[in-house]
Amino acid sequence: MTDLPTIQHYVNGVASAGTSTRTAPVYNPATGTVAKNVLLASTADLDAAVAVAQAAYPAWRDTSQARRQSIMYNFRELLNARKGDLAEILTAEHGKVISDALGEIIRGLEVVEFALGMPHLSKGEYSENVSTGVDVYTLRQPLGVVGIISPFNFPAMVPLWYFPIAIAAGNTVVLKPSEKDPSASNWLAELFTEAGLPEGVLNVVHGDKEAVDALLVHPDVQAISFVGSTPIARYIYETAARHGKRVQSLGGAKNHMLVLPDADLDLTADAAVNAGFGSAGERCMAISVIVAVEPVADELIAKIAQRVKGLTVGDGTRGCDMGPLITKVHRDKVAGYIDIAQNDGAEIVIDGRDISVDGDPNGFWLGPTLFDKVSVDSAVYLDEIFGPVLSIVRVATYQEGLDLINASQYGNGTAIFTNDGGAARRFQNEVQVGMVGINVPIPVPVAYHSFGGWKNSLFGDAKAYGPAGVNFYTREKAVTSRWLDPSHGGINLGFPQNQ
Ligand code: NAD
Repeated sequence: MTDLPTIQHYVNGVASAGTSTRTAPVYNPATGTVAKNVLLASTADLDAAVAVAQAAYPAWRDTSQARRQSIMYNFRELLNARKGDLAEILTAEHGKVISDALGEIIRGLEVVEFALGMPHLSKGEYSENVSTGVDVYTLRQPLGVVGIISPFNFPAMVPLWYFPIAIAAGNTVVLKPSEKDPSASNWLAELFTEAGLPEGVLNVVHGDKEAVDALLVHPDVQAISFVGSTPIARYIYETAARHGKRVQSLGGAKNHMLVLPDADLDLTADAAVNAGFGSAGERCMAISVIVAVEPVADELIAKIAQRVKGLTVGDGTRGCDMGPLITKVHRDKVAGYIDIAQNDGAEIVIDGRDISVDGDPNGFWLGPTLFDKVSVDSAVYLDEIFGPVLSIVRVATYQEGLDLINASQYGNGTAIFTNDGGAARRFQNEVQVGMVGINVPIPVPVAYHSFGGWKNSLFGDAKAYGPAGVNFYTREKAVTSRWLDPSHGGINLGFPQNQ
């Protein structure tokens, strides 16, 4: 055990051990073994990283747009060229299969490409002669040091949702990734240094609640970007806001797919399986409930079950469809919902505990699991399970399905499957969810739109990336200017009026 590598922080352009000797194990979920340990920062370690970011800020803020853009471009090129290396890191620590790991990197690359347009995106506005001889213009300026806290399930993509935009806009960053799969963040920060990013602009501090809390209250941190589970997202939002920071705080989800009787059931079944079991269901945009408007349920379930039986589960490096879950604790918690479903009267169509695995038997395996006739009062329906578990709820009408979705505490993503354009249009208008798919099961907006749910899936009003991201990481300054001439003279204590 003592020979295992220890993942260090990355501060001021170099690996840094900090002062804390606390560590957490980082598993290879496909073998169930501890592969590395990661340092868990103390408050002093976090404060030291913020001090570095704060010191790097003035020079980075004043670096020309052209220079910043050219470094971003180098980063984009390096990331694209070496994404295969990063995918291997993701698979080794998260467990997701290589093709899926590449997918998340490519979605993250989209945001880097979007951030390349920062000179255009952050342009101000100019109004000439708003009053005689007076002009008004706006500037968008960076905030300073911003903190980013990310979840385990997208160890590359979620940091990439945030730091490219923050940095392109002239901010400096302290990133606190998930302690469960921390290496991707170090890899990305090292790559950015190689691309020419000055030391101290992107710092990675590993840790748990102690590091997060230190970031949330630090007076030199201007903004916090968070993605994770709903209880923590709420805590982050409230704590950081109380300490005077801008906050974008994205939480958990329970995403429903509404299937109308006219839908193409083969294509719908394909989409349900892909969106339900991809990344072993550990996606905030995974479909976890299918709301089948009768009479389609029996036929749809048969088609889904047939496809699920063809899925291969195993080591993500071996070309399987689905990998393991992140930890044994999480695997056991998800498997526990199979017992809950049974007790609450659901039908177990496929039990994920009965699988053969292409991999080490000690990995954190759970196969795809399918429940029918799930009660909407059951924890299986109400909780975010975050695993390869798909529940079917049968309803009689569109309205009953819509009401169910709208009653959920979550509002991240949803999808309707139908060939009826009028029904789809009505759904997009009536559903209380932030991201809607029409025959698209995982409607993650492209990088030049913004990502974010409603209700307990996002706290506050700041979405991630796209125009909302630019807005979040810059603040507008309005300048009113005149070049004095005699017509501006005279004493008048009244409130200035334009003339
Ligand atoms: P998590 O909330 O456990 O952890 C997220 C981050 O918060 C990690 O960096 C972790 O170290 C930190 N953290 C955990 N407990 C903390 C505490 N008590 N105090 C302070 N910081 C704490 O989430 P996770 O398990 O890593 O990720 C899965 C969750 O993230 C799911 O709920 C999923 O839906 C959600 N998620 C949401 C989105 C979205 O865009 N809405 C995207 C991806 C994941």
